Amino acid sequence: MRAQPQASHFIDGAYVEDSAGAPIDVVYAASGETIARLHEATPAVIDCALAAAARAQRDWARLMPVERGRILQRAAAIMRERNRELSVLETLDTGKPLQETLVADATSGADALEYFGGMAATVTGESIPLGRDFVYTIREPLGVCVGIGAWNYPTQIACWKAAPALAFGNAMVFKPSEVTPLCALIVAEILHEAGLPAGLFNVVQGRGAAGASLVTDPRVAKVSLTGSVPTGRKVYAAAAEGVRHVTMELGGKSPLIIFDDASLEDAIGGAMLGNFYSSGQVCSNGTRVFVQRAIKERFLERLKARTEAIAMGDPMDEATQMGPLINAAQMEKVLGYIEAGRNEGARLVTGGARLNGAGYYIQPTVFADVTDTMTIAREEIFGPVMAVLDFDTEEEVIARANDTEFGLSAGVFTSDLTRAHRVVSQLEAGTCWINAYNLAPVEAPFGGSKLSGVGRENSKAAVGHYTQIKSVYVGMGPVDAPY
Ligand code: NDP
Repeated sequence: MRAQPQASHFIDGAYVEDSAGAPIDVVYAASGETIARLHEATPAVIDCALAAAARAQRDWARLMPVERGRILQRAAAIMRERNRELSVLETLDTGKPLQETLVADATSGADALEYFGGMAATVTGESIPLGRDFVYTIREPLGVCVGIGAWNYPTQIACWKAAPALAFGNAMVFKPSEVTPLCALIVAEILHEAGLPAGLFNVVQGRGAAGASLVTDPRVAKVSLTGSVPTGRKVYAAAAEGVRHVTMELGGKSPLIIFDDASLEDAIGGAMLGNFYSSGQVCSNGTRVFVQRAIKERFLERLKARTEAIAMGDPMDEATQMGPLINAAQMEKVLGYIEAGRNEGARLVTGGARLNGAGYYIQPTVFADVTDTMTIAREEIFGPVMAVLDFDTEEEVIARANDTEFGLSAGVFTSDLTRAHRVVSQLEAGTCWINAYNLAPVEAPFGGSKLSGVGRENSKAAVGHYTQIKSVYVGMGPVDAPY
């Protein structure tokens, strides 16, 4: 199987290769085969990308916003037309099953391009009366933005960052994760096919060092990272040196609280979506599932039955519901957490093993009787491992749910609407769900509190993260100077 792109980088409207950069082998997670070889960006390649972005951004910012928006909407339409092909590529890049990629990746990328394309022309300033004088404000683009992506949603992450950046008049240099370098190149191709002028969306490949050199370049006004908390700390600190704008979409260890009056099957469905979708490699996953004691054993019994019925296998088979983990290192990390769960006394309800054969498959795994101090209840695993904890009272579960340094997401299942809103109002998380889990429509702000991040992606909130306000004071009379 091959998925070799035309070249490693996409700069100034064209593919660019520089084989002087260290090789990056793309491995298909379902088989372990190398399907493409790319090269890291050398400093010269990074410089070209930033120079192209800086040059192109000046004219782009002067264009009628409605024209910018039209290009993004055209790109959205192309993405939808090419959804199957893009989904296959996403599956090759990540190992996620086609059943998921057909509905979750290029489609959500297209949603973002469509949404921000439509919003481009709606961004306005305000007029502030001061009697005789007045002030008006202008929402201006920031300039050159850097996007750095994680490996779990390479198409979606590229679009979630590119769409608002471009809509509001910025240019972007995007560095995908070295593990999933393929999809962002196609996003760049499609944007240009839709009419995006050269230089406005550039893709450069590389490991952490390439990302680090982008973050500190003086031409860069903003950095938007999707990644882990340790990387977020480094990138945030590096960006602070130049007082750059940042958006940090980082990791989580989110609570999902299930009260005994909840619809059991819906709650189990939510917990499974929030732990097993994309083999558990989702930042907002509800990996601490708090179940009220009265329903615990019934919950576990049905959860076990439904989990054991999950179809694992070839990601290209549309009947497959769960694929492998991204690579061998992530598989080993997750197996290490499963071992820790066993050693620290959690009860293994189902799963817990690697599947024999090629690829990096781990069974969907459920631990019960997990306590708050166990490693699997404290650290982000980023794999298909659900920790079920018991609780008795609302007050107790809120305190325990918030007892974490993360604050990305949280969920509540209950049929008592008053309680649902009361609990959500006390949860320390950027995104909460009531009787649902892990839905992230482009219309809704998405992001974290505490160590899970700063800033918000998607929604109207993104305007504030990809523009800056200029205040213009207009004097309408003589200057009243005391000298
Ligand atoms: P990492 O933090 O390892 O990497 C994220 C990106 O940052 C990669 O492109 C990486 O490059 C790059 N990078 C690493 N070091 C630096 C540096 N010093 N300066 C600049 N860039 C750097 O995350 P993963 O790719 O492992 O993704 C998983 C993590 O992402 C999880 O913690 C998950 O929760 C989080 N995530 C958060 C989301 C959110 O919206 N809140 C959504 C999805 C994931 P390279 O990979 O090439 O080393």
